[in-house]
Amino acid sequence: MIVVTGATGGLGRLVVQDLLAKVPASQIRGAVRTPENAKDLADLGVDVRKADYDQPETLAQALESADKVLLISASEPGKRVPQHQAVVDAAAKANVRHLAYTSAPRADTSKLFVAPDHKATEELIRASGLPFTFLRNGWYHENYAQVVANVTATGVLHGSAHRGKVASAARADYAAAAAEVLTTEGHHGKTYELSGDAAWTYEDLAEAIGREAGRQTRYEDHSREDHAKVLADAGVPEAVVGYLLTADQAVADHLLGDTSGDLRALIGRPTTPLAAYVKEVLATRG
Ligand code: NDP
Repeated sequence: MIVVTGATGGLGRLVVQDLLAKVPASQIRGAVRTPENAKDLADLGVDVRKADYDQPETLAQALESADKVLLISASEPGKRVPQHQAVVDAAAKANVRHLAYTSAPRADTSKLFVAPDHKATEELIRASGLPFTFLRNGWYHENYAQVVANVTATGVLHGSAHRGKVASAARADYAAAAAEVLTTEGHHGKTYELSGDAAWTYEDLAEAIGREAGRQTRYEDHSREDHAKVLADAGVPEAVVGYLLTADQAVADHLLGDTSGDLRALIGRPTTPLAAYVKEVLATRG
């Protein structure tokens, strides 16, 4: 039995879809916080069980008789380490043969704002003695969906990423890598630095949007203070402004631009190009 936690999330759903193409549905379990939201997966023959990281008592049943588990990292920074510990404890009790975990780029050494939770989780997984694989996922193209919409409408991409680069890939690329690791051998003890084949600057992103949208676009690079003002003036809520500034700082600090080639090698095909993602967003927005 292959268990995917967070199977109702964006990544989890794609992993389950990929697994369905590789193994019978009867060998796949979606371990989800809210089973009512996973009716579509149950209809496909996937075993759906409740698994709330905040309710450790739900996890024993969710991981019962599991051979392999994909622990999809939780979404609330600060709460994640105890949540992940609960899943790892349950996996150890269930004697799972393989635990894969969705981590972050260079989690053990990076200054990336999300790295501390992932570093701590990698450490607790190592300490559990379970055979593991770390899938250190880089940024998703999907993080820029709103940017594509805004720049298509206004022609201007405002940022404070300077000349930093982002080696993003589509969520579907990372999902394909996870499905590969869960259905083939040779991944125990491995750490994969997963990212897109190409790294791009915000200038490149503005250009790609302009090309696909058929309009003039440009990137305006700001200091952190000026960027904060532009966002606040546009009515962006304070908490979101803080997040966007932190994310751009990470790009400026070159924490998201590595192109290791691990993702392409795992999935056996090139990663989804940024331009293809932009095209897809524009097509779905009509
Ligand atoms: P989503 O937000 O779409 O999904 C997160 C999943 O985690 C959901 O299924 C959610 O359950 C589940 N979850 C959160 N908290 C709990 C909990 N306490 N107990 C059980 N399940 C929980 O994110 P993605 O699927 O796109 O990404 C997966 C993870 O990757 C994120 O959770 C985050 O850690 C990280 N991430 C990475 C990004 C990147 O660019 N690399 C960008 C954004 C996130 P429910 O469906 O019930 O809400």
